Amino acid sequence: MPLKKYSEKRNFDLSPEPLSKEKNSLGFLKFCVQKHAASHLHYDFRLEHQGVLLSWAIPKGPSLNPKDKRLAVQVEDHPLDYADFEGVIKYGYGAGTVMVWDIGSYLGTNCQTLAETEKSFALGLKNGHLQFVLDGYKLKGQFSLIQLKNTKQKNNWLLIKKVDLFSKNFEVITLDYSVLTKRSLEEIAEQG
Ligand code: MN
Repeated sequence: MPLKKYSEKRNFDLSPEPLSKEKNSLGFLKFCVQKHAASHLHYDFRLEHQGVLLSWAIPKGPSLNPKDKRLAVQVEDHPLDYADFEGVIKYGYGAGTVMVWDIGSYLGTNCQTLAETEKSFALGLKNGHLQFVLDGYKLKGQFSLIQLKNTKQKNNWLLIKKVDLFSKNFEVITLDYSVLTKRSLEEIAEQG
């Protein structure tokens, strides 16, 4: 039951979020970033791995500047369907507005295929070091997620952009709109 925690936290009679059905991959590995105006505004960063979306909550959001180290707190795995969920969670866990801030595909760094990426990630999750290349609308190029050791918070990781063609000193979160609908958080909140 890989999505047990996801299901336990939610009442699907009250929440418009996707049910915890596992689905087969579409032939590529998805990633997404959702801007989530819950009790605390944050960005949820999700990477497909073995039929679910590994998920991290990033309070400051992602950055394209290699000098930035953004705290990313690992949270429960989400269903693959969640990647394009946008709307309003009126009640319960995570209540607030969700925007699909970025979406796309990814591969492990130096990986040519999904299978190689899955293998690299299985090891990376054990070692606390994931390396991958994103191909989204706003986020592109090489990134690392590094687990913070020597702290009590085993869920704490850092998201860091690597220097490449796509790294730049530009606050990418100022691109503040849904890549699916071009809407702002306020418009999503009004329209659902
Ligand atoms: Mn969230």
